[in-house]
Formats: sequence, C-alpha cells, structure tokens
Amino acid sequence: MTDVLNFSAARELLEEFGLSPNKRLGQNFLCDPGVVARIAEAAGITREDAVLEIGPGLGALTRELSKRAKKVVAVEIDSGLVEALGKTLADCPNISVLHADFLKADLGELYEALGGGAFRVAANLPYYITTPVILRLLESGLPVRSMSFLVQKEVAERMAAKPSSKSYGALSLAVQYYTDASIVLRVPPSCFYPAPSVDSIVIRLDVRPPKVQVASEEDFFRITRAAFAMRRKTLANGLSAGLGLPRAQAEALILAAGLPANVRGEALSIEQFAALANAYTQGAF
Ligand code: SAM
Repeated sequence: MTDVLNFSAARELLEEFGLSPNKRLGQNFLCDPGVVARIAEAAGITREDAVLEIGPGLGALTRELSKRAKKVVAVEIDSGLVEALGKTLADCPNISVLHADFLKADLGELYEALGGGAFRVAANLPYYITTPVILRLLESGLPVRSMSFLVQKEVAERMAAKPSSKSYGALSLAVQYYTDASIVLRVPPSCFYPAPSVDSIVIRLDVRPPKVQVASEEDFFRITRAAFAMRRKTLANGLSAGLGLPRAQAEALILAAGLPANVRGEALSIEQFAALANAYTQGAF
C-alpha cells in the first residue's frame, strides 16, 4: 500500500512519476484522511454497490471507496496519474482505472465496466468541468442511485438553492428535477495539495423519479435556461429573448401558466416552471 494521504507523500509520489499538479486539469489532491473517509461514508456505499469515480488523481478517495464497495471504476484523463495509480492501488483488486476524458467517454462502455446494474457515483470533481460532468450524468438515463461530489462551495450552493435565493438558477432546477440534494460537509482549502483558492463542499444527490410531470423535458430545460439567462430582467423579457417570441406572446405564455405577467424567473418554484413548460409545449398562448 502506498500512502498518499499527507502532503509530503503526495508530493514525493508526483515527483517519482515526473509529475506536478496540473492546474488546467483541476488537480487539487485531497490529503486529509478524515475528509476522505467522510466523503466515502456520505456516499452511502455498501458491498452490493458498484461505484463510478471521476478523476481518481493519486487514488486517495478511490482506495476508501473500494473498501466499502463491490467494485470501483475510476476514469482519469491524465496518463501520468494513471501510471502512478498502478502503484498506489496495486493492492486493490476491485478497482479498474480507465484512461479517458469523462466528458467524451462512451457511457455504454462505462456502464458495462460497472457490471450493468444500478450504481453510485463519488468524486472530488475537477472544478473546471463540474457542471458538465453532473449534467452529463443526470441526463444519461443510466440507473444512478446517488452521486456524492466534492465541489466548489458556490456550485454546491447553486445545486441546493431554493427559489428567490441568490444562488437559484438553471443548475438548481436541473439538479432538483432529477434528485434530492443535501449538503454534507464543508472542506477548507488546507485539506488539499495544492490548496485551491476557494472553499469546497461535499454534496449528495439522491436520484429519484422526476418531481414534476412535464410533457417535454427539452422544453422544460429550454425554458429554465431562458428564464435565468438575463437575471435582472423580468421573466417575460428572458423568455422573449431565449425562446425567440414577441414580448406580448411571452406575456401570454406566462398568463397561460397562471402566473402574473411581471413575475421574475428567480421567484418560480419547480412546479411553476413545469406549468410554464407545459403551456409552451401545448402552444396554449
Ligand atoms: N480524486 C483525487 C483526490 O481527491 O485527491 C483527485 C481530485 S482532482 C480535484 C481532479 C482529478 O480529475 C484529477 O486527477 C484530474 O487529472 C482529473 N480530471 C480532470 N479532468 C478530467 C476529465 N475530463 N476526465 C477524467 N478525469 C479528469
């Protein structure tokens, strides 16, 4: 076993493989054993579970996940780290490391590697692709039970935000359409090598059937994106610009959904967005 859970061990291991933390790839390695254990615990993994990890890095979280899971499939973009993982995880037979960019990886192949049943996801995500990774998983249609992520504090707050709060937006609605989001733990920069400039949060997303019924998911997400594209404007202005409708028609759509014409998007609940999307899909305006 190779210890990677302290700063000097992580630094030495990187040096041994001729590597240094790559900022462009969001490489901030967790070096706090307590935090790593709490993330794995919060992920709710049992011996029955297959787990997908995105960005295993030096394998700190991967090892902790593998102690609890039936199997871990970890996808790492950096070939140097894939080589280092061959050493750090050599004693963990239930881990498969795949060298790939998660955003381009074939999800069908990943699903097969995970064993083909329902699975969980856990990751300390690279900050530069947090939102696309989460949206890719949410929209994949794969049987994901839960996703536990360590992400930048502001992104976690956006995912869990409620209507009329500063952080509420299209990401909140996408996440809350598919999952129940709960914030688990705040993690300070001092737990990483190198230390990022922002605080981080562990968030758990429990996937469930959609909370609202919409006639077209495509229209629902198009409307939520249009509603928040211009935050300071009224919903009518946002919909008019985002959907390419004359302003009077955007107002008629809002009224058809049973809402006041001058309402702001940030005040609407997910149920109200669903009513708006259904009125749009049915052309009831
Ligand atoms: N899991 C490790 C930890 O907690 O110490 C490393 C986390 S670090 C924040 C993010 C990891 O994601 C890095 O190992 C980085 O190389 C990897 N990564 C970045 N972009 C990726 C991508 N598109 N697909 C897969 N892995 C990626």
